[in-house]
Amino acid sequence: MIDIKAIAERDRSSVLHPFTQLKKYATGNSGDPTIVTGGQGIRIQDAEGRSYIDAFAGLYCVNIGYGRTEVAEAIARQAYKLAYYHTYAAHTTEELARLSDRLVRMAPGKPSKVFFGLSGSDANETQAKLVWYYNNLRGQPKKKKIISRDRGYHGCSVVSGSMTGMSFYHDHMDLPFPGIVHTGAPHHYWGAEPGETEEAFSRRRAAELEELILREEPDTVGAFIAEPVLGTGGITPPPTDYWREIQAVLRRYDVLLIADEVICGFGRTGADFGSTLYEIEPDLVTVAKGLTSGYVPLSAAIVGEKVYAVMEEAADRVGAFSHGYTYSGHPIAAAAANAVLDIVERERLSDRARTVGSHFQNRLKERFAQLEIVGEVRGVGLLGAIEFVADRQTKRRFDPKLKVGARISKAARDRGLIARAMPHGDILGFAPPLVVSEAEIDEIVELAHGATKQVLDELSKESAL
Ligand code: PMP
Repeated sequence: MIDIKAIAERDRSSVLHPFTQLKKYATGNSGDPTIVTGGQGIRIQDAEGRSYIDAFAGLYCVNIGYGRTEVAEAIARQAYKLAYYHTYAAHTTEELARLSDRLVRMAPGKPSKVFFGLSGSDANETQAKLVWYYNNLRGQPKKKKIISRDRGYHGCSVVSGSMTGMSFYHDHMDLPFPGIVHTGAPHHYWGAEPGETEEAFSRRRAAELEELILREEPDTVGAFIAEPVLGTGGITPPPTDYWREIQAVLRRYDVLLIADEVICGFGRTGADFGSTLYEIEPDLVTVAKGLTSGYVPLSAAIVGEKVYAVMEEAADRVGAFSHGYTYSGHPIAAAAANAVLDIVERERLSDRARTVGSHFQNRLKERFAQLEIVGEVRGVGLLGAIEFVADRQTKRRFDPKLKVGARISKAARDRGLIARAMPHGDILGFAPPLVVSEAEIDEIVELAHGATKQVLDELSKESAL
């Protein structure tokens, strides 16, 4: 038996938790931590013996589900054989070479080489440095600015946190870093003029991007970074024609495209990559999360032929590529990734995300679209979101003080379902493991529906509707 009180006390007095109100937690005013003790399939358990359906796959990462012993065994085998060696000065391992080769074969765009990191944040930090390096090496030293989108999420380190288009990641932390510029979010529901079609809205967003590039001066703009499907900014699939219009602008001004596939990669959208689904041809691709299903930390910055050719060409002149982490290409992480990708391929999880995903999208729409506080139900594959509003006609938002999204998420949790309250309004987000069954989808949707009804009743009793 574990000592719940002792763990809670140790945690409270020593762990600096992300996204936790520090004072309330430290003083015990926001309750005890949830001590997670185990996981199997789509479920996790806590120390008090409660079981939850994790309809967010941790943080959109545990695509193969919890408790896959095959991955644990691959990790153990590699740890017994060789727990660590670095990859500097052309050192490698069998698992790393196998993983890198398979990523080059499967990644979108025209992949050439893979640089390994430990998180989505550091991989995007690498991408920014590659953009600067590439443009320095090809004699375009001014072409350095990076454009990202409002509500885009790319990590929380210095440059990746600046690319993230959410002000609460910048406030009080001296971000954004200079040279990072933001453009409009691809949210048709919130961004479109009355009556504006998705196609017209996409054209307008592309025209705004072009105006921004011209205003900043094209020879100072190096890259555009975006998630194929906007993730943490609200789980929003791109409106029709968005990616075609945006890519035409980028090509016109010789601006590199970084596809941040950290959420979309390895099947989440029902295709191997979001780029495959939306016909995106990126120059640089960032992957993490699904690469190891979160079993160990690993990310990759995949470098396309165009960028790599310039790097190799300049090598005699500039010397060795001076960028690398102690843990770049860690053998245990590589072994875990290979075991995970074996499962992803064998169980055809991209196809599953498409078929079970279409059941999921239908069920969400059937159960939620008619509710009086639901403004929009959206998603693709096994990514979904419900946007709650106080008035469907005028799209008036709820008073943020009511915390409607957080209350629905909490009510769901009390019923044994983890679905995440997302920032930017009242949004309930879903990203279940890709191994979820149709029956489990029905259970998820019913639990979320019950939670929503409960909060709807509470709101009407509080006369908040
Ligand atoms: N990019 C995207 C699209 C993400 O969703 C995330 C994490 N949610 C990141 C980058 C950052 O990854 P990490 O938290 O591993 O640094």
